Amino acid sequence: MLRHHYMGEIDGAFRAWVFQKGGTGAISGAIASAARAHGAEIRTDAAVERVIVRGGRATGVALEGGEEIAANVVVSGLDPRLTFTRLVEPQSLPADLVEGVRRYKFRGSSGKVNLALAGLPDFTCLPGHGPHLRGAISISPSIDYLERAYDDAKYGEFSRHPYMDIVIPSMIDPGMAPPGKHVMSIFVQYAPHNLNGGWTDEKREAFGDTVVQTLSRYAPNLESLILHRQVLTPADIERITGLTEGNIFQGELALQQLFFLRPVPQWAKYRTPIRGYWQCGAGTHPGGGIMGGSGRLAALEILKAAA
Ligand SMILES: Cc1cc2nc3c(=O)[nH]c(=O)nc-3n(C[C@H](O)[C@H](O)[C@H](O)COP(=O)(O)OP(=O)(O)OC[C@H]3O[C@@H](n4cnc5c(N)ncnc54)[C@H](O)[C@@H]3O)c2cc1C
Repeated sequence: MLRHHYMGEIDGAFRAWVFQKGGTGAISGAIASAARAHGAEIRTDAAVERVIVRGGRATGVALEGGEEIAANVVVSGLDPRLTFTRLVEPQSLPADLVEGVRRYKFRGSSGKVNLALAGLPDFTCLPGHGPHLRGAISISPSIDYLERAYDDAKYGEFSRHPYMDIVIPSMIDPGMAPPGKHVMSIFVQYAPHNLNGGWTDEKREAFGDTVVQTLSRYAPNLESLILHRQVLTPADIERITGLTEGNIFQGELALQQLFFLRPVPQWAKYRTPIRGYWQCGAGTHPGGGIMGGSGRLAALEILKAAA
């Protein structure tokens, strides 16, 4: 996972991450504009219920509500469990594929806390405002700290002292917040999807409190700055986005689920056993992250097959 986070480069800067002006949704907007400029029609709020398969070939999709759309090529950007066990009948697939998808591990383990702030946090290690607030801030004081944070999740609890990756996008893009105010995005590990007793509203708030209290030890003025707080657990991520078990990368980036094994051996080249039905999401190689890698490689395979 850590290696995955540090691969790639942006504009020649190796292992760099970047901020998107206008927030992450602006990337989707830019991709949509480019597609429309090439003649694509994009439908949103149009959930696909199932892929229509006739004679071993995908011939289109059926939307929730009953509308059917015919297509020669159907490409699923959903995670492997949904692609192979919800959109099509698993009984029509080879047993090795179904078994591989059953074994494929999701186990979402991260949460998100977004804060609207009345001003900037003051970190005791680097007091005052400065360039450090424009970059990535990591709360990971030692290897032991990280290991203890993971130990809690291993036994079904969220970390009492979590590991946090923090950015303040409004420091880079002032349009993200009103003048003088800021937004802080906190990516938190670990928060297991299968929390002991399950996630409830109370546990979500307790998780949010733990994050804020932990961070306040490093930036004591934080709590007094909070105007609004949004806490997302893996259960929320699953409910809102549909990502199975709230895994942000459509499945763990563990060694046995990478490269030619993603999502499962023998079915890792975007093709599926159903002719005309392809997979292209983060559950395929090279995995999650806003990089378009899986989609590009899938598109090249589809074009090759059509040639
Ligand atoms: C909380 C969180 C934080 C993240 N942070 C970062 C980050 O900082 N940097 C980074 O690079 N990556 C980050 N990621 C990962 C990144 O967002 C994903 O890896 C990336 O979006 C994967 O793209 P995708 O197109 O494969 O799948 P998705 O973005 O998951 O797209 C799948 C699409 O299919 C739609 N869909 C689902 N079911 C249906 C259906 N039945 N019918 C029709 N449509 C359907 C969904 O609404 C969604 O739009 C984060 C993810 C999460 C959840």
